[in-house]
Amino acid sequence: MENDLKAFSLDFFSLKDKVAIVTGGNAGLGQGYAVALAKAGADLFIVARSENWVETKALIEETGQRVTFFKADLTNREAHKEIVEQCLKVYGKIDILVNNAGIIRRAPLLEYKEEDWDAVMETNITSLYLLSQEAAKVMAEQRSGKIINIASMLSFQGGKFVPPYTASKHAVAGLTKAFANELAEYNIQINAIAPGYVATANTAPIRDDEKRNTEILSRIPAGRWANPSDLMGAVVFLASKASDYMNGHILALDGGWLAR
Ligand code: NAP
Repeated sequence: MENDLKAFSLDFFSLKDKVAIVTGGNAGLGQGYAVALAKAGADLFIVARSENWVETKALIEETGQRVTFFKADLTNREAHKEIVEQCLKVYGKIDILVNNAGIIRRAPLLEYKEEDWDAVMETNITSLYLLSQEAAKVMAEQRSGKIINIASMLSFQGGKFVPPYTASKHAVAGLTKAFANELAEYNIQINAIAPGYVATANTAPIRDDEKRNTEILSRIPAGRWANPSDLMGAVVFLASKASDYMNGHILALDGGWLAR
């Protein structure tokens, strides 16, 4: 026991020599996760559809870590294998996968279009499943790995006007547990971060709606929207040795929203 206590070190939080894939790592929350992982010592492989990489590149290079950008649409079923192959080609391994890319489309339930249902489900859950499966094959051979899924308050609640978003984020929570159960024996941990309301492009329409914005703020005990930096510590923890005994957990970072 004494040796166990002495073995603990703040180095357990370090990501030195680790390689991380972050989907949607060029904007919003994903950019925050990517910069946090780089600050903790990881090299980054960032996947997105657009080539809007200048700011993220500068932020990561400032940390002294390597960064590679890979343009891919995660709704393309050919993309997932290619992402893993390209990351291996550049860095030779994959220690961390952050499944951050996600979309939201809003419309009343009775008018909700099938094409919007399909687009949200394909991006938020099917692509997360397929990329995790490909990355997990590599991690299983390595006998180590961390997969961090991005869930939501709508992994717990129903919400309004976003039926496939709610369905997909409940599925993210379920899949996090399913992967955790099957992959623990390979020393792979799969956990999820469930952000509360964060000020990003994704949430601009509801922040611009004064009535919704006031309603939301009045329900958050912290009394403010989160910023991407509010989530940076959690992603480092979940990517690091410090969380090795945590598996299948959905970690809410919500300013107290769920506690209400
Ligand atoms: P965002 O600002 O809209 O960024 C989304 C990112 O995903 C972008 O980098 C986008 O890059 C990428 N992306 C979307 N579809 C893609 C595709 N088919 N292939 C590749 N990349 C794709 O969103 P955000 O607010 O940062 O949200 C990030 C994640 O957090 C999402 O999963 C979201 O559901 C979740 N979340 C957000 C909040 C919030 O309050 N903001 C709360 C809870 C959960 P390109 O456009 O360049 O492809």
